[in-house]
Amino acid sequence: MIADLHIHTTASDGCLTAQEVLAASERLGLRMIAITDHDTVDAHVALQKQPYTKGLTTVIPGIEFSTDVLHSEVHILGYHIDIKHDELNTNLTHIMNDRINRARKIVDKLSHLGYPISFQRVREIAGDAQSIGRPHIAKALVEQGFFSSVGQVFHSLLKKNGPAYFPHYKLTPLEVSGLIHRAGGLAVLAHPGLIGDDSLARHILTLGLDGIEAIHPAHSTKQIGYYHKMAISQGLLVTGGSDFHGVSGRFPEKLGEFTIPIILANKINEAAALQRSMK
Ligand code: AMP
Ligand code: FE
Ligand code: FE
Ligand code: ZN
Repeated sequence: MIADLHIHTTASDGCLTAQEVLAASERLGLRMIAITDHDTVDAHVALQKQPYTKGLTTVIPGIEFSTDVLHSEVHILGYHIDIKHDELNTNLTHIMNDRINRARKIVDKLSHLGYPISFQRVREIAGDAQSIGRPHIAKALVEQGFFSSVGQVFHSLLKKNGPAYFPHYKLTPLEVSGLIHRAGGLAVLAHPGLIGDDSLARHILTLGLDGIEAIHPAHSTKQIGYYHKMAISQGLLVTGGSDFHGVSGRFPEKLGEFTIPIILANKINEAAALQRSMK
């Protein structure tokens, strides 16, 4: 029995709508999924009252927060959050507005660097997504023929501290972890291998985090073992997921190609229930 605890939709930079993710998960026999869009719970709002069957028992309300720490980007996943939580939603509104301003700044900077694209086109590419991100901008640059792939755009311009990089809304990992907990959820350090600095990852884990996403497609087998051990030695949960975006050329291209054992998802659910019962 399989699960996937890290899935993006068109509410952020994924290519499938929340309903399409649900239908594909049912068809593929996924037992439990978590939709974890960047800085938004819009997919979960869209799925309210949407029935699911065929073996899919749980859609965990999740989110993935982006923070900037020193030379790294640090992503923190929230699981079993109350999507109607006031403080959470107030923060998400600020982050969403800031993402729009950030995208405008990036588009302006790109124009100065000799890559003119219109903000209007970026918004069109983002579609329903209120959570505008660099992948939407990168797609506009590829469409204009400046680059042949989104990956190339990141490499040349948009990666952290690249020529057209602008930081995220200023929320620290400590603030994110507190916010997730107050919204009733569990906070998990996303893809620590992508932080590129294990001492920073270890430090962030001390800020009240509940788990480590050891299993991620960007991690080598050695890294999975390393972060798994790190979690166990600190009494933290081990989680994992595909980080599915549905983008061609980015593994996994299809849901169900990268999954985790259901037992890990069950442990998240048990820990979240325990936390709620003690409030
Ligand atoms: P943002 O939300 O603006 O910080 O953009 C972050 C998102 O960009 C990540 O979550 C990935 O989905 C995507 N991303 C980051 N690096 C790359 C890359 N090298 N190639 C393609 N997509 C990337
Ligand atoms: Fe993404
Ligand atoms: Fe991430
Ligand atoms: Zn992600």
